[in-house]
Amino acid sequence: MKNETMTVDDIECPYCGRVFDGGEATNYDTTCDFVNCPTCDGEIEVLQSVTYTCHPVKNQESGDLTFLKGVNYGFL
Ligand SMILES: [Zn+2]
Repeated sequence: MKNETMTVDDIECPYCGRVFDGGEATNYDTTCDFVNCPTCDGEIEVLQSVTYTCHPVKNQESGDLTFLKGVNYGFL
């Protein structure tokens, strides 16, 4: 048995090592704290974290700044 496993997208059971889909197991609920392993039925405490990967959509330094005033970039 492992003290801790850390994987991306999947959950690795610390009891038996079974790797299964984390989203499916938690019902895509990021507040889900406990799941049961589909293989050994062990109760697993899950700590979920989210990685945000961000890219600029356009070059903010070009263009007319007056024209850009009032535009909400969140919806572009
Ligand atoms: Zn297991």
